[in-house]
Amino acid sequence: MKCWICGEEAVYYNPQNKKALCKKHFIDYFEKKVFKTIRQWNMIKENDTIAVALSGEKDSMVALNLVKKFTNKYGQKVFAITIDEGIYRKKAIEIAREHTEGLGIDYYVFSYKEEFGYTLPEILKYVDLPACRVCGILRRYLLNKKARELGATKLVTGHNLNDEAENILLNIFRGKIIENSKLGPVTGVNSHPKFVPKVKPLYFMRVEEIKLYAELNGIPFYSGKCPYLSSSFRFKIREFLKKTEKEYPGTIDKIVSGNLEVLPILKENNKGEIKTCKICGEPSSQEICSACRILSQLPK
Ligand code: SF4
Ligand code: ZN
Repeated sequence: MKCWICGEEAVYYNPQNKKALCKKHFIDYFEKKVFKTIRQWNMIKENDTIAVALSGEKDSMVALNLVKKFTNKYGQKVFAITIDEGIYRKKAIEIAREHTEGLGIDYYVFSYKEEFGYTLPEILKYVDLPACRVCGILRRYLLNKKARELGATKLVTGHNLNDEAENILLNIFRGKIIENSKLGPVTGVNSHPKFVPKVKPLYFMRVEEIKLYAELNGIPFYSGKCPYLSSSFRFKIREFLKKTEKEYPGTIDKIVSGNLEVLPILKENNKGEIKTCKICGEPSSQEICSACRILSQLPK
């Protein structure tokens, strides 16, 4: 297969437009698309301070590299944060630490154990909720809090097109379509002084493209899997989407573009004010935030 632009050996084939690209033109295509997303959605402003949520896996490592490249022009401060759930993050943290050092980026690790007194497996002994639900609530809580305390005005995440399609279907399958109002390239419906807006520069990139970009650029990443993943509802949806996309290419794009089309209507209909948690003072949709409701079930 040859690159449709220059005729060199291709490294990538896009089944959507049926075009192949060589290494140089794939990297060009990828970076232009990500930078266009950042500009179009106004994700990074000149005076922003940016925290990157770094799991050590491919998406966030690529997001970090591209945000660093994007901000070279205006010199916005960029730093990275990893949340250690106490499950399988050790190796990922090693890789992330070495990579951030190489990029000259400050790196912070916060763990459930130090912040809450318990690791995720320990928390799950006392809380009767699915592992990923508890993990997601506590991770988002810590990321927002720590990013803000460290002075961030934006929180970059490595969410990609596949993740977004999964999130949209998850909400639909749970009967919570209105929750899709909280998705999109820039998240959050309403603002709160303690809420750091989350932005997703890889929003329109597919998971295979991100992996290839990391490999072609020698960006290291951790590829182990969390032991809780295979029993999650998300995993079932991921497998379903993989099969469907193979049979009907373009399904993932259609799910995401369809949600983007109705996003303004969903946001308009979800205008509940963000409250302040009565226990911890963090932003919350209820009187007591989800994190505090989980933490209140743990022995003191
Ligand atoms: Fe947490 Fe679930 Fe992700 Fe594991 S798979 S890190 S439990 S959200
Ligand atoms: Zn709270």
